Amino acid sequence: MQLLDGKLASQAIRDDLREKISGRKEAGRKIPHLAAILVGKDPASETYVASKVRNCGEIGMISTLIRLEEDVPQQELLDRIAALNGDPDVDGILVQLPLPPHISEQKIIDAIDPSKDVDGFHPENVGRMVLDLPSFVSATPAGILLLLRHYRIRTAGMHAVVIGRSHIVGRPISILLSRNGENGNATVTLCHSRTKDLAGICRQADLVVAAIGRPKFVTASMIKDGAVVIDVGINRVPDPSRKSGFALVGDVDFENVAPNCSYISPVRGGVGLMTIAALLTNPYQACSSRDGGGTGTTDGFTA
Ligand code: NDP
Repeated sequence: MQLLDGKLASQAIRDDLREKISGRKEAGRKIPHLAAILVGKDPASETYVASKVRNCGEIGMISTLIRLEEDVPQQELLDRIAALNGDPDVDGILVQLPLPPHISEQKIIDAIDPSKDVDGFHPENVGRMVLDLPSFVSATPAGILLLLRHYRIRTAGMHAVVIGRSHIVGRPISILLSRNGENGNATVTLCHSRTKDLAGICRQADLVVAAIGRPKFVTASMIKDGAVVIDVGINRVPDPSRKSGFALVGDVDFENVAPNCSYISPVRGGVGLMTIAALLTNPYQACSSRDGGGTGTTDGFTA
């Protein structure tokens, strides 16, 4: 069994981006700029946004964090997005989800200029991805592909089973793995809570992507020998032995599944780090495309 080390793989991507940004600086070209909007004070969202901002700084990318109160009117958020859309200095816009219930997430996503939608959530980017056209791909599925690519895992001809059909992970990764191109060409089965005989389907898989949000849901008896397992899940479970009072576990029962896999991603130092690396790649692509140094949008995942 080989560990899919997201720390190693993401470091390679970050080093590459740092070098490219430093090259742009030396050449007097524009430095990529990511603007993040955080509404309210949800602790998990605070942590995610802080990590994104810190990571931008570490590779020399400019970031702006706009904090808005929990009760900010939807129109004010829309106005902020319109201003960022029109600001030529801003290359990427990210609105941290979830948003408070009085705000329509879809309206907010729809309001972001697709050419600055570095989260890849805008319907235009999702549609382009489905059509094999260059597009921003949302960070977690993009990160999974980057991880597979780093370890030279060829998915062509594999039976890939994706568990979970969310718009941000399961659905897009199922589409990406089925595309005719690098890191694609898999035969994909997309499973969800209504799937019958999930364990039996999983046992047929050469590649399992678990994005369910249920601790240790995928057990050893569901995985065939030599399969590749990608654990996307991050679940907090009570653990009185820790100072924090909780432990982070994945959607996969790592200890029991790992021995029989060919490759498996850990919860810490796995897909999460790749998600951040992918997220940093998108504003760089957006920036370089604006001054003629890129393709327009992220096309790293097309054939
Ligand atoms: P969602 O809650 O949006 O989706 C969960 C999916 O799992 C749904 O499609 C649901 O099916 C399916 N599901 C739930 N229970 C079962 C079951 N018993 N059998 C089969 N399918 C089931 O989750 P997300 O996709 O947003 O996140 C999934 C996990 O990944 C979470 O732990 C989250 O924290 C983590 N995550 C990690 C990221 C990272 O960077 N590492 C990034 C994003 C998420 P149905 O549609 O039928 O309800």
